[in-house]
Amino acid sequence: MRLVFFGPPGGGKGTQAERVKVDARALPIATGDLLRAAVAAGTPAGKKAQEFMGRGALVPDEIVNEVLKERIVQPDARDGYILDGYPRTVAQLHSLELLLSDMKMPPEKWLFIEVPESAIEERVLGRRTCKKCQASYHLKFRPSAKGDRCERSGCDGELYQRADDSAEKLKTRLSAYRKDTVPVIEELRRRGKLTEVSAGSKGLEDVEALVRKALGLGAALRK
Ligand code: AMP
Repeated sequence: MRLVFFGPPGGGKGTQAERVKVDARALPIATGDLLRAAVAAGTPAGKKAQEFMGRGALVPDEIVNEVLKERIVQPDARDGYILDGYPRTVAQLHSLELLLSDMKMPPEKWLFIEVPESAIEERVLGRRTCKKCQASYHLKFRPSAKGDRCERSGCDGELYQRADDSAEKLKTRLSAYRKDTVPVIEELRRRGKLTEVSAGSKGLEDVEALVRKALGLGAALRK
């Protein structure tokens, strides 16, 4: 499937993308991960992006558009993708629509996972990310079986707290979300293209069930 996930920062888009990717036959592509990899590799795009990301501000459209384009044209995204964290501005939405219609692989579903702001701080402050594979954990909701190391087989990477997962940076990220990303969601809603699920304060398995239903996928087989 070709999917685009929306939701506030720390709202669980990436977690849900990981949980449905096999059944949706789709490759999760998170621009935040791509940018962090570019920063770590010290590429020209990474050097420019670093300053904005460190503040919790959005990276300029032309940099993110380029990074996204480079990734989505790779053959492994041909059969399906789940965009996570992109588009985050109306300009990015328009750029994405042009690119994907040129490539003849337009999104089949635009899914908004609505999470109240009151639930976000606890999620973001407890989040831990694997330095090696970017897997996401939570101290309370999704601890790693290996403590401060990644439990994925063969990974064992160190878990760390992202510099922008602090209470102060979260304020900046939420205000960027309200100012730049909410208008994208509103535009898609106006066009009648948006599928919406309300996560409220539900746990991730219950949210997954809602996401699966909205995407027309069967129930999860794990557990
Ligand atoms: P995320 O991992 O999605 O929380 O993104 C982390 C940071 O990367 C954001 O706070 C932005 O600085 C940057 N970023 C990720 N995706 C985008 C995007 N689509 N547009 C602008 N900045 C982005």
